Amino acid sequence: MGLLQVSFLSAIICFAVSAQGQSYVPGEVIVKMKSQSSKSSTHKFIGKLSLNNKMALKRSWKRFKMHQFKIGKDQNVDQVVNDLLLDPDVEYAEPNYIFKKQSVGIEGEPMSFSEVEEELSSMNSGFAAGFNQTGADINADEAWNIISNLSNKPVVAVIDSGVDYSHYVFADSGAIWTNTDEIPGNGIDDDGNGYVDDVRGWNFVNNSNDPMDDDNHGTHVAGIVLGMTQNILKATLDPAVIEIMPLKFLDSQGVGTTSDALEALNYAINNGANVLNNSWGGGSYSQALHDVVSQAYSNGITFIAAAGNSANNNDTQPTYPAGYSVPNVISIAATSSSDNLASFSNFGASSVHVGSPGISILSTLPNDSFGYSSGTSMAAPFASGLAALLIREKGSINGYQVKGVLYDYSQGVSGLSGKVASQSRIDAFQALDFVQKNDIDTYQPDYTGSTRGLASAGGGGAAAAGGCGLVRSLTSGGQGGPKGPTGKTLFFLGLLFAPVLLMNILRIRKKKEIESRRQFPRYKMDSEVRISVGEKQLVGQMSSISLGGARIDTDALLEKGGIVTLNIASPEGDQQIQVEGRVVWSEEKKAYGVQFCDARDEAVAAIGGWTQKLSKT
Ligand code: CA
Repeated sequence: MGLLQVSFLSAIICFAVSAQGQSYVPGEVIVKMKSQSSKSSTHKFIGKLSLNNKMALKRSWKRFKMHQFKIGKDQNVDQVVNDLLLDPDVEYAEPNYIFKKQSVGIEGEPMSFSEVEEELSSMNSGFAAGFNQTGADINADEAWNIISNLSNKPVVAVIDSGVDYSHYVFADSGAIWTNTDEIPGNGIDDDGNGYVDDVRGWNFVNNSNDPMDDDNHGTHVAGIVLGMTQNILKATLDPAVIEIMPLKFLDSQGVGTTSDALEALNYAINNGANVLNNSWGGGSYSQALHDVVSQAYSNGITFIAAAGNSANNNDTQPTYPAGYSVPNVISIAATSSSDNLASFSNFGASSVHVGSPGISILSTLPNDSFGYSSGTSMAAPFASGLAALLIREKGSINGYQVKGVLYDYSQGVSGLSGKVASQSRIDAFQALDFVQKNDIDTYQPDYTGSTRGLASAGGGGAAAAGGCGLVRSLTSGGQGGPKGPTGKTLFFLGLLFAPVLLMNILRIRKKKEIESRRQFPRYKMDSEVRISVGEKQLVGQMSSISLGGARIDTDALLEKGGIVTLNIASPEGDQQIQVEGRVVWSEEKKAYGVQFCDARDEAVAAIGGWTQKLSKT
């Protein structure tokens, strides 16, 4: 595709957003076939759609049974989606939604390195990793001092507008990922991954092997990822301890499509990325995007996402991919140098997980320059760089465990109270120090995936997308007692018993892994449970519990697949935990099985403690 065509595509996309008020590509749909479909029926299905519906296949993701189609000129996306949803071969169909970068623009003129040096000298020493450490100090340089002497370099995929890989910061440090299985420039797909001469990532906007940044967003983001792991604001760069895989799917306006995002994520998953940095988002719930994020989860990959810049509460008005309830998704809010939530930053006491600096961040810009930018786009890559440092120490640490470490080994700040689940801002030293000194297990909960949010055109799916969050609080002291501590405070209290608590958690999980691969042992329990479904409050009786879920007896009607919040009293009634779960089976108005979505360590430890006095079912 030439330059003209690229600009033309941007024009079409912008038109779709502004003129129609709908955020999807006109004339395109994404369809997922039901999983029992065989190869021959896939061919038949595609043939049927092209014959009957004048739809032309544009791209397929065979692993996911997903296909992207162009629809007929006289057809309407909403109508085609609705028709496809009635097709017995179709699991879901949705528009090709549009997503955007999550920065609020570059501030001031790009600077040369000598101008940066002047800038640094006029401020008190503390400028490292591209942000002012005299205020909110994420302890990056303290973390650099303890980085182990290891040779492995975790790969962070920067899924963005591309990266100026020729910038001396990346070139001199050797930070750009190299596909060593590909011989450059021979016109052959040497490694058979479907991409010819993909030596340093891919450009999914114009389908080329050159992921050069034609915006500036991706280069700025990539500089922050690298800047979290070493000082990038100095004349002579140290060799990088991580690698950056540039995957361009946002165009020169910072706008991209679901189909290109699917392709970029799929590439990252298949080509060895350990962390996916997603400084982009939008309000439309794409089931297809969710399913690819779930695949990343299955592969143990960490998925970092910008929470968004609309000053919204994501708990009630989610943005995606940050809002997916997949347990490896870490949604990042932006904080100020005084550790308050940035005025533009989205928040969410359960759906946004941790804060990170996001105002006036100094990082790389194309053409060997530097500049300031703000946004949750800038906050997310700090977390991605940190995640890569953790993975470098313990290669087996998965996305779910990285989330737990970022959640617990971060700096509790009052400015994030009630704003993000951990009520904390990242702290590189605390997190790295913990991972270095402790064995991290490989446990991650089963995640069967959301079947809700079968999105239709016009954003119908967004309303159905609250999703599972983290356990919000853990209270003790029973009813009428003093207000219990939050999960975070309890965690700090728990530090006194940390070795015991941690050992207990690890032991429980190890025991669980030995006893059976996927199932947790279940225990008989007779305890009252209060169930919240949206605004509704119900009461039931818990008849069994495990570390992964519970059976609830109630004559109330709960929707299968629905998300519920359970307030569970301990067997003695002296302790209460809150956990979110999904109704996975039901005997209507009688009994329901609830699978916990993402139980926090505190809750896991509490349930583990209870079960020691209970008998197995
Ligand atoms: Ca290749």
